[in-house]
Amino acid sequence: MHHFVPRCVLAVSLLAAAVSAAHAQSALDRLKGLGGGRAQTALDVGSDVVKGLTLNDADIATLGAEAAAAYDAENLVAPDSDPYAQRLAKLVAGWENDAGLDLNFKVYRTPEINAFALPDGSVRVFSGLMDKMDDDELRFVIGHEIGHVKHGHSKARFRTAYLAQAARKGVASTNNAAGRLASSELGGVVEEVVKAQHSQSNELESDGYGLGLLQRGGFNAQAAVTALQKLDDGGPKADMLSSHPDPARRAQRIQAQIR
Ligand SMILES: [Zn+2]
Repeated sequence: MHHFVPRCVLAVSLLAAAVSAAHAQSALDRLKGLGGGRAQTALDVGSDVVKGLTLNDADIATLGAEAAAAYDAENLVAPDSDPYAQRLAKLVAGWENDAGLDLNFKVYRTPEINAFALPDGSVRVFSGLMDKMDDDELRFVIGHEIGHVKHGHSKARFRTAYLAQAARKGVASTNNAAGRLASSELGGVVEEVVKAQHSQSNELESDGYGLGLLQRGGFNAQAAVTALQKLDDGGPKADMLSSHPDPARRAQRIQAQIR
């Protein structure tokens, strides 16, 4: 299962895995169509072209929102009446403009233990994660994801994933601006964002943001520690460990901050 990839929180999703496999397969098909040697050449050229391209912040905000819509369409978004959606709405009440951002929150009904955020402020939480955590633990994880948006990590990841996809699709233009991907291709960009790995320093920075949200809201700060412990606690933690490095050490670090 090559799509047993690093995820933002951690992961074993039948649905997202199927989507991921579909993206991977279509990429493989394209490579096969080009033939081995020529495919390599085409990708090399694409990479070189992409290095000079720019995507400004306004582009990224617009594309992020389009990508969120595209990825939502590929996943089972819980309707407002769904108990998971109602729980999430309660958890994040009042956070819509946290940190001066314009955030929106949705649940994907999938057993995957995961959550992610896009640079437009779209935060997605997987129901598998919600099953595993209590309310304040979830608030910490969601706050952590907001931290990735607030600190620009989501933007940087999205830019990289978008430009890579643009190169693969051959839509890189020559006027120093990235060409537009079709909306049907934006889901693949999000897939890249979700599976890309954050640096340890980004993780710690986002942990700090999540902890701060708990403390400012008068929630249980200890939930930040137990959330990370749960993510390090048996089960499908391999994905979590690769995308959010060393949750046990992060938990210890937060515990020291709280004391
Ligand atoms: Zn993270």
